[in-house]
Amino acid sequence: MSKAWDQVTWQEIEVGGVLTEPGSARNYNTGDWRSSRPVWDKTRCIKCGICWTVCPEAGISEDADGYFEMNTYCKGCGICVKECVTGCIEMVVEES
Ligand code: SF4
Ligand code: SF4
Repeated sequence: MSKAWDQVTWQEIEVGGVLTEPGSARNYNTGDWRSSRPVWDKTRCIKCGICWTVCPEAGISEDADGYFEMNTYCKGCGICVKECVTGCIEMVVEES
């Protein structure tokens, strides 16, 4: 299926919802429906990478300085906030 995800009708979806293109999940920004987002306080981050490890959506990216930040795949589940070893991430309400 070569159409963008929001251009595909239900009649065109593969039977069983089977994915036919490897890596196609890259096109689905799971953060589209997020109602809250994590915000990092980098002054308290020790760059351990635990938040990056536990995120179920690959929603965290590492910046050039070795700190972490949310990306477009973050769905706002809050697991990174719960697991951060220094408590330096907090959830804030998403603003449109
Ligand atoms: S809130 Fe959830 S999805 Fe978003 S970065 Fe944290 S663990 Fe990942
Ligand atoms: S878990 Fe917390 S301290 Fe560790 S890298 Fe992530 S934000 Fe920094």
